[in-house]
Amino acid sequence: MNANLYHLFQSRFPADLDDCWCETEDQHYYSWRDLERGTAKIANLLASCDLPVGSRIAAQVEKSPEALMLYLATIRAGFVYLPLNTAYRASEMDYFINDATPAIVVCSPQNFGWVSQLAFKAGTRHVFTLDTPHAGKNSGSLLSRAATHSDKFKTLEKNPDDLAAILYTSGTTGRSKGAMLTHYNLASNIQTLQTYWQWQKGDVLLHALPLFHIHGLFVAAHGALMNGSKMIFLSKFDSATVINQLPRSSVFMGVPTYYTRLLSDPNFNRDCCATLRLFISGSAPLLSETFHQFITRTGHTILERYGMSETAMLTSNPYQGTRKAGTVGLPLPEVSVRIINQVGGICKTDEIGDIQVKGPNVFSGYWNMSEKTAEEFTTDGYFKTGDVGYFDADGYLSIVGRSKDLIISGGYNVYPKEIESEIDALVGVMESAVIGIAHADFGEAVIAIVVMHKGEKLSEESVIQTLKNRIANFKVPKQVYFVDELPRNTMGKVQKNILRETYTKQ
Ligand code: AMP
Repeated sequence: MNANLYHLFQSRFPADLDDCWCETEDQHYYSWRDLERGTAKIANLLASCDLPVGSRIAAQVEKSPEALMLYLATIRAGFVYLPLNTAYRASEMDYFINDATPAIVVCSPQNFGWVSQLAFKAGTRHVFTLDTPHAGKNSGSLLSRAATHSDKFKTLEKNPDDLAAILYTSGTTGRSKGAMLTHYNLASNIQTLQTYWQWQKGDVLLHALPLFHIHGLFVAAHGALMNGSKMIFLSKFDSATVINQLPRSSVFMGVPTYYTRLLSDPNFNRDCCATLRLFISGSAPLLSETFHQFITRTGHTILERYGMSETAMLTSNPYQGTRKAGTVGLPLPEVSVRIINQVGGICKTDEIGDIQVKGPNVFSGYWNMSEKTAEEFTTDGYFKTGDVGYFDADGYLSIVGRSKDLIISGGYNVYPKEIESEIDALVGVMESAVIGIAHADFGEAVIAIVVMHKGEKLSEESVIQTLKNRIANFKVPKQVYFVDELPRNTMGKVQKNILRETYTKQ
């Protein structure tokens, strides 16, 4: 059996290939036949470049159906896809290109000058350009070169363990690492999710996430492809456009920031969610407050799930059954998740420890980093996620933070999430981040950075005083800073490394 992931998607295309596969916000329609032919042309172009087996194709391109076709054509032709965040600048791109040594780099026409210079220096054979084709602009050399190729292509035979993609982790500390994902990792995960989330005939996915990250590519786009479902493709998230398009959709996936932005839009209401079957959140913690506000406003309960570049999705709240606020749900079928305490034993219910995972979803290692890979796996084959959490009595997992964000103050472990939840519960607080900074006496001192709702005010003393009555003294922040917003990356994750840098200097 051909284990090529594209082969699996092909088997799920709707019977009528003239059905709509993808519709853009500026009303361009692509059929499944367009997808099949478009990926064939690009795959033929890639194949004509006579590249060695396992070649990497790196892409730093704006989101468009053609960008998704480039990804699919890459795996169809048997190569390894390497998506890169559009925000990366020259020094970052230089690192990725030299580390992954892609045979082909695809970039936007306006970046061609500097990207091609870096790429050719690193030994890349071809640099193509790709732009959003419908902006009345030239769509770049990739599509014009592909246009001269045949629209038929026999999807390459692949083994389950062959690489399909390398995803570089966001790397908030040290070097960013390339997580190597196989055709089987991706296929098994999306098959599991299709069943778990009960994708249905007639589902329409409203796709607002970026395509360079696991969430938009391997959860959202894969989900629709796996189900033969149409996508409404937005070039980026924007509340007004999402509110406009929701009434034509049944599934929506987002990072928590999307949900808070929707809730802060007065036009977002029950009516625009009438056709929705499922709202999914992930990539960063969804605040309980957002979870509950969403129910009150729309009648829908957001389903929160947990995953990472190295493991795809590993837990999810159930489709049917209770979705618990503040938890990331239960381990997915065939995925084994365990929590290990400081002495290497399995944690009891409610005991906090390191989250480890094993299963068909778990990546095959970090590109060019065999030592790092070996360090991150246990001798019995579990991957150490670097996240810290606990299971409740019903088997639901809660994440309390990244292990590197754990604060050790005066010899005691302080889990930021616990204190953040206490602070978030104070009247007027919108959200907070708790970090540790170097302290001569305690090793690390707990400090809090707090965002208030508009028009609300609290003093540092009152926050500290209230917390002193609720939690042990060693957990109470020594200082509280008030800011307008927390620094976040494109996936909505609070960048605690930036906060640590800022507040260490103060
Ligand atoms: P990435 O590889 O960029 O997807 O980042 C993965 C990390 O995001 C995980 O290791 C978690 O720390 C975090 N993450 C993902 N989903 C959730 C979630 N639902 N709640 C809390 N953290 C999450």
